[in-house]
Amino acid sequence: MRSFIHAKKWAVPAIALMSLQLSGTTAQAQSYDPKFNVEAQSFADLQVLRYQVPGFNELSLQQKKLSYYLYEAALCGRDIIYDQKSKHGILLRKTIETMYGTYKGDKKSAEWKKFEDYCGRVWFSNGNHHHYSNDKFIPECSFEYFSTVATHCDESALPKEKGEGTVAFLNRIKPIVYDMTFEPKVVDLRPDVDNIANSSNNFYEGVSQKEVEAFYDKFDTKGNAPSWGLNSKLEKKDGTITEHTWKSGGMYGPAIDKIIFWLEKAITVSENKTQKHSLELLVKFYKTGDLKIWDDYNVAWVGDVNSRIDVVNGFIEVYLDAIGKKASYESTVSLRDMEETKRLEAIAKEAQWFEDNSPIMAQHKKKNVKGITAKAITVIVECGDAAPSTPIGINLPNAEWIRKEHGSKSVSLSNIIHSYNIASAKSGMLEEFATNEEVRKRMQQYGALASDLHTDMHECIGHASGQINPGVETTDKTLKNYASCLEEARADLVGLYYVNDKKLVDIGVMPNMDVAKAAYDNYMMNGLMTQLTRLKPGDQIEEAHMRNRALIAHWAFEKGSKDNVVQFIKRDGKTYVQVNDYNKLRTIFGDLLREIQRIKSEGDYNAGKDLVENYGVKVDPVLHKEILERFAKLGIKPYRGFIQPKLVAKYSEVYMSDGYTKDEIKDVDVEYPDNFYQQMLEYGKKYSYLPVVN
Ligand SMILES: [Zn+2]
Repeated sequence: MRSFIHAKKWAVPAIALMSLQLSGTTAQAQSYDPKFNVEAQSFADLQVLRYQVPGFNELSLQQKKLSYYLYEAALCGRDIIYDQKSKHGILLRKTIETMYGTYKGDKKSAEWKKFEDYCGRVWFSNGNHHHYSNDKFIPECSFEYFSTVATHCDESALPKEKGEGTVAFLNRIKPIVYDMTFEPKVVDLRPDVDNIANSSNNFYEGVSQKEVEAFYDKFDTKGNAPSWGLNSKLEKKDGTITEHTWKSGGMYGPAIDKIIFWLEKAITVSENKTQKHSLELLVKFYKTGDLKIWDDYNVAWVGDVNSRIDVVNGFIEVYLDAIGKKASYESTVSLRDMEETKRLEAIAKEAQWFEDNSPIMAQHKKKNVKGITAKAITVIVECGDAAPSTPIGINLPNAEWIRKEHGSKSVSLSNIIHSYNIASAKSGMLEEFATNEEVRKRMQQYGALASDLHTDMHECIGHASGQINPGVETTDKTLKNYASCLEEARADLVGLYYVNDKKLVDIGVMPNMDVAKAAYDNYMMNGLMTQLTRLKPGDQIEEAHMRNRALIAHWAFEKGSKDNVVQFIKRDGKTYVQVNDYNKLRTIFGDLLREIQRIKSEGDYNAGKDLVENYGVKVDPVLHKEILERFAKLGIKPYRGFIQPKLVAKYSEVYMSDGYTKDEIKDVDVEYPDNFYQQMLEYGKKYSYLPVVN
């Protein structure tokens, strides 16, 4: 599970106008270069940022080699996410790579700029469905212009079929690129429709939701069962349903073999036995596709708490599947941020206290909360579903039984957050939306810390808390298309409930209770109002994290209305959100937490559905219009993502009879590219291992 900067109180990145002096006070922050430019290209509704990797140069050579091998392994899986999002994804990407990379005509025209924006959007979303709204988007340039570019580039490099001319090729791909009714939605969560048939991702083909559910009903999901279906495509052909497993020799085999190649190198330089064992299991999983080995790997990975270098690599998150079964490829390579980790450890140490004092019902509490390993990490590279748009917090593994018996690792991505903070500080957002001077000042002073603490609590306490009643199945079966949203709401509520607890002052992670007020002001402002900037006029809320924030904010607003706990204020035609009673609001958050935990523990689908549909989906069109106008004036892009740093291995050379040849890696440099388009072209050339049809 993961949290995004926009997935949390700072739903709109720009609102995280957090005070920079805060992050500047930590020892870790000393190694950030203050002259580093975090801002790169902007297009459509997207801004691309850059991030630094402080601490990398101080790693030992062995750790640098390990990072490098894991970095290569991460990038070798890049093709997979394109194919998972659409069976035409790699075809589309190779087409625009060729067109953008080899076009010989005028690159100053308005039409070219529109084409360039389209390429940027496809690369940013790993396909032609918006990374956040899940809706298809098409180029703003005409199909005629698109065709002109295609016929004035290196046509031989276009992914044409054998003997196919460029014109025939263009006609074939026209619906993929330009038809809004062709694969309109990569994930469709609407109630009362077939969520499988209506989602255009490449996890299923020719099967209905009923058939998928019946297929997996054969498997036992009670107890310590593996997450059946996690690593395969389910296809019905000639009346027979087959699972195509993603493994060496199976679907995505050529890319997976490259991942294995680099992981095997990583094993040779692992930091300790535990890490070595876990990487060996990961290789074994990729070789066999055996989900029992995947679980063994996750158990080993959770146990690896001492390594400085860590990696997430595999089929991890299930947000791209409407019924939460199939996982998308992602990888995050990181090193531990020693300073920030101290704060997380202070919180994680109290996990049992938080569980015992939680407002949830006694029978839903865990008697023994297993070691939640919390740390802050410095990201080295991200790939797949974790890039270019990235989470700011990750809590893994996802298997409920492993979390219960072996615990989970919770990380906060500190150098990513650092870049967001810098980019956000001058946005003017707080001035525009804070209801008064007191709120504005408090958010300026404590915003960053409030955000960090809420993320910490969400990840290390939230997702790990509570238990499902005996005999009740996992939430993908019971809560189905509402499972992700309700799980995020549950974790957010744990964070909201405890950020306003003196306990956090007592354990030394929070200076005073004003931090809690800053957290509440932000959460309510965002959930009721500012996150609407991410939607187009007429849209309803689809994305799980956005739904969860709307659900919490609207439910709390309604339950507190008779006491005026939270109110909307109108001034000069502008709407503001004002919290009047922070303690009552906390009680309300606790009430909702108890109810959502009950829904999860009992598997109460109807109650979960009612909560989400009544509070988390609908949009007030008048308020929405106002918010869009205010954001447009500020010129803030609603979504952000990142250019990845580049690791460059320096080899020593040895003289062989036929000349100098590469020998051992003697150092690894980290470089910071500043052009998103160039990086995408470079990745396309270097990490292209899958055919256009898989
Ligand atoms: Zn989460």
